[in-house]
Amino acid sequence: MKARKLLMIPGPIEFEPEVLQAMSTPTTSHLAPDFTESFGNSLDMMKEVWLAPSGQPFIVAGSGTLAMDMAACNLVEQGDHVLVISTGYFGERYADLLRRYTPNVDVLKADLGKVVPADQIEDQLKKKNYKLLTFTHVDTSTAVINDPRPIAELGKKYDVLTILDGVCSVAGEEIRQEEWGIDVVFTASQKAISVPPGLALLVASGRAMKVWKNRKTPVANYYADWSNWLPVMEAYGSRKPAYFGTPAVNLVLALEKSLQNILREGVEKRFMRHQKMGKAFREAMKVAGLQMIPDTEQVSANTLSAPYYPGGVQGKEFLQKASREGIMLAGGLLAELKTQYFRVGHMGSVNRADLLATIGAIESALRHCSYEIEPGICLKRAQEILDS
Ligand code: PMP
Repeated sequence: MKARKLLMIPGPIEFEPEVLQAMSTPTTSHLAPDFTESFGNSLDMMKEVWLAPSGQPFIVAGSGTLAMDMAACNLVEQGDHVLVISTGYFGERYADLLRRYTPNVDVLKADLGKVVPADQIEDQLKKKNYKLLTFTHVDTSTAVINDPRPIAELGKKYDVLTILDGVCSVAGEEIRQEEWGIDVVFTASQKAISVPPGLALLVASGRAMKVWKNRKTPVANYYADWSNWLPVMEAYGSRKPAYFGTPAVNLVLALEKSLQNILREGVEKRFMRHQKMGKAFREAMKVAGLQMIPDTEQVSANTLSAPYYPGGVQGKEFLQKASREGIMLAGGLLAELKTQYFRVGHMGSVNRADLLATIGAIESALRHCSYEIEPGICLKRAQEILDS
């Protein structure tokens, strides 16, 4: 019997064998011609996946929090006013992080399960001369998704840089960075990009790079300073080696393979597949009587879901039962609700078989926790949607 469990948490996720094989290639020099080619290819492919043909990509060893820090430290100077639009845990983290660079951080916090309405954001932008705003595309603590378009429009209207935290969305949810005019879109490797944890990935617009070049003060963070990394990215981009900090050679080889996979599927098809998987999962939970944290379909992410436990079901027991059924799920993340809901990642290469296995395991874990549901009812609903 297979001992391995299916990893259905919202990152790290299941990785494809060819990506893991690329990672296990004997490590070469970071200055070797074949590695230089792989690094350059990865930078080029990022622009295709981000739909940002004239953006400046960065690949740096670190986690998603480094990508958040990189956008913040390069674009913010002491005294600047910045606005954080928060839909959960990662919005709060961004506000904390930004306070290291300027005391003038305002937070617009959405009610649980909702987004901050665009007119409220606009009212706030009228009040001060903000340098930038940040928002979380999909907050992994709530599974709430923001529509980036109206926020990007406001950024253009009020001349405010827009930073999209796409850690739980890039290569899963629809993002058209250049067409929509978003200044920075970043992610981490372990989510829908489908590469083991360890890479911070970011694409900056021409406008963002110009703001950075015109800074009056040095960047207050040594490792993340674009002055150190831009020459390296430009060199690899033109297939020449360069050095600032040793790149995560094997992770970059895995990234090249995964970006090839993503482009082979096609970003449009990938967005649609995530939409279908997300909908099938949500509908399956609804027929079992489970409520979701996001208030409406419109604000529900497709890369993960966050259902509340139904009455009488204890989280710890439920997660153990699901694990015994071969599926690893995640508990809650929001401090105030931690024990009241669970999270299921359905992003990256997730397919019909993964989704149905997960839904089946949830059904039986619920029954084993004495929550009565008709066997197969969730699976039936999910299949109806997947077949439509
Ligand atoms: N932003 C979001 C939306 C995330 O989901 C995460 C990680 N779960 C982060 C930022 C931070 O990324 P990391 O844990 O890789 O530092």
